[in-house]
Amino acid sequence: MTKKMSKAEKVKALRDKLKKQDLGGGGAGFYSPKVGKNTIRILPEVGDMDFFFQPVGRHFFPDKRAMYCPSFTTEKDLDCPVCEIVRELHNIGDKQSKKLASNLGVRRSWWMNVIDRNNEDAGPLMYTPGVMVFNSIISLINDPDYGDVTDIDEGSDILIDRDGTGIETSYEVHGRRKESALTDDDDLLDKWLNDAKDLSYVEVSEDSSEDDELSEGHAVHIVPYDRIVDEFGLDSFGDDEDEEAEEETANRRPKRKTRRKPVVEEVDDGEEDEASEEDEGEDEGEPAKEVNRRMARRSRRR
Ligand SMILES: [Zn+2]
Repeated sequence: MTKKMSKAEKVKALRDKLKKQDLGGGGAGFYSPKVGKNTIRILPEVGDMDFFFQPVGRHFFPDKRAMYCPSFTTEKDLDCPVCEIVRELHNIGDKQSKKLASNLGVRRSWWMNVIDRNNEDAGPLMYTPGVMVFNSIISLINDPDYGDVTDIDEGSDILIDRDGTGIETSYEVHGRRKESALTDDDDLLDKWLNDAKDLSYVEVSEDSSEDDELSEGHAVHIVPYDRIVDEFGLDSFGDDEDEEAEEETANRRPKRKTRRKPVVEEVDDGEEDEASEEDEGEDEGEPAKEVNRRMARRSRRR
């Protein structure tokens, strides 16, 4: 190994490294509520987003690699080989299998663009709340006193009171009582909506070298089923069922008619520091659906 890298080489290495980083919350461009009181404004959908949020499921592997769960992220349009393994592990049911299942299980979050009212100069940031905060936001939208809190003219700022850190973290979420515009400055409004990230997911191809091109700067990209199996060596799971598994894979295309729910582990929900005792036994995906319905009704009324 050469000891010295030129500056240009260093920058190139850094860029290559950054390219491969999973944009999984935290870090540059992401918002995280501080302990204490926070005020944010959720931005409406931009680009190809249908609504102001994108459900994002992620699986984390023991070797620290992470991937987006096709099933949860597409709201069950696509199958996920990892969720299938998690289900198998649950069925096996011994302690070790259950532990592995719980480590591999999908971590849920709902990505959105926000303005940090205490740091508006930062512009739009990605916020990746877990189920607790997201449910509170849904409650506000369902509350006739608030409605669409993301409306640029008549929406409301959101107050997030964060207590504690790590697994002790809890959040309280309220809406500002008074409705307000996102901003009164038209130029700034355009800039913010323009700078906000298109969080809708994109599907990339079997060829990983095309990822950058196909994901077109979208943060969330879905890798094809077979590529996930290859890249994460999932073939080695359930070796004694190889033939059966192969047959199943062959029958998997075109899409299966009956979709099974992604298996969700309640260990956390996409945010390392968000406790999730609240959502035991909850039918996952429902919050997103409910808010979808609400938002669709609202936009039809317009
Ligand atoms: Zn999955």
